[in-house]
Amino acid sequence: MRRKRSGALFVLFIAACVTVGFAIALARDDRHAEISLLGSEYMTVEYGTEFEDPGVVAKSVGNSFGTFKHSPKVEITGQVDTMTLGDYVLEYTATVRDKSASVSRRVSVVDTTPPVIELKHTEGYETDWFTGYEEEGYTATDSHDGDLTGQVLCTEQGDSIIYTVSDAAGNEAFAERKIEYTVARPEIFLTDGEEITVPASLTFTDPGYSAADSKGNDLTDRVEVKGSITPYKLGSYQFEYTITNDKGDKVTKTRTVEVVKAEKPEVIKPEEKTIYLTFDDGPGPYTGQLLDILAKYDVKATFFVTGADSDYFDMIGRAYDEGHTVGVHTYSHNYRKIYQSEQNFFEDFCKVEELIYEQTGSYTKICRFPGGSSNTVSAFNPGIMSRLVTIMNNLGYCYFDWNVSSGDAGQTNSTRDIIYNIESGCAQNVLNVVLQHDIKDYSVNAVEEVIIWGLNNGYTFRALDETSWGSHHSLFN
Ligand code: ZN
Repeated sequence: MRRKRSGALFVLFIAACVTVGFAIALARDDRHAEISLLGSEYMTVEYGTEFEDPGVVAKSVGNSFGTFKHSPKVEITGQVDTMTLGDYVLEYTATVRDKSASVSRRVSVVDTTPPVIELKHTEGYETDWFTGYEEEGYTATDSHDGDLTGQVLCTEQGDSIIYTVSDAAGNEAFAERKIEYTVARPEIFLTDGEEITVPASLTFTDPGYSAADSKGNDLTDRVEVKGSITPYKLGSYQFEYTITNDKGDKVTKTRTVEVVKAEKPEVIKPEEKTIYLTFDDGPGPYTGQLLDILAKYDVKATFFVTGADSDYFDMIGRAYDEGHTVGVHTYSHNYRKIYQSEQNFFEDFCKVEELIYEQTGSYTKICRFPGGSSNTVSAFNPGIMSRLVTIMNNLGYCYFDWNVSSGDAGQTNSTRDIIYNIESGCAQNVLNVVLQHDIKDYSVNAVEEVIIWGLNNGYTFRALDETSWGSHHSLFN
């Protein structure tokens, strides 16, 4: 009996020991939860799609008894609404023996899907570029923003229309419609290119242009040319070649014309005593007689002609054919008119150039200002002579004054005086440019004696040309 009791006590004792040991072991075990994210800490999910949570791994962990097979329960707070853009936080908590462990994940619901543009097409619709394209219609729809048709921007690029639209999240969509025109957008071609350089001259002729479309239609007659040039004034001029369609769309090419100084040959001064006989204001009734005298002595002279008397225009051709020089003196010789403006002057001047061309088959580069470059009769337009001289030089024209006056322009009508004036004048110089007028019989009558005197005194008679010494007066206006 006693033995039995002591045995029971022993069992009790052992049991107590085991319990205490187990309690100590359990206290040492420090059982707790561990939790970690599967997937990323920061996630984005597209608007309107389903969010699939990658979840977490949760464990019950202790020092003495290791990791339990059975995972603790995980609670999730927060939720992701993929139908509402924004940032969401999910918090995952695992608890073991009142000990919690948490991790969190940030999820952004974003819209990265661009809108969709759909183009409508009308069966059988066709047009040409000149009529222009009439919109066949389109729609734009966005997964988040809905109907964006009203916000579509249409721009024409060549033969295409580009449609663009953005949703509120900034996603851009674009579509292109290629228009098949029956007559396509023209292209303008400039002969000689977009930049040309021309020497100053009295007239400017456009080198030309053409226009065509990619289908081979010739559209040259649709080109409008704008721009003007004063071809005798140096500078840069612009011409615009434009085709405009019914909608006001334009195809344009621009040409720059650079007017530069024309080249002029070097002056060559003869070394021997020379007389240049020059006759202004003709041709007239005495020009034929004068040409006969010159021919008799084989003397070449220079005629600065006007358009005063059309009955004798053929004398210009005769003078030229017989080896004389023909130069411009202006058509009207009307001081008030020609010295009114550069434009007036050159309009009048060109008429003589055309007259000379008709009569001789070529233009000239020789001229004499009515009244000479030193005239003051033009003083009503201050500076006009200086400007005209500059322009003449730029044009490559050689203008000639004189250093021997015959006096036939009002000072005398005596042939004898004229002969004396010329001979005494020439006696003083090596090079002589003599001024006479072949519309005055008493002046023409002096020519034969002057020639005989000149030849007997060692003078050579020459016609002026572009290389001749110019005998330029001082300018007074
Ligand atoms: Zn004159």
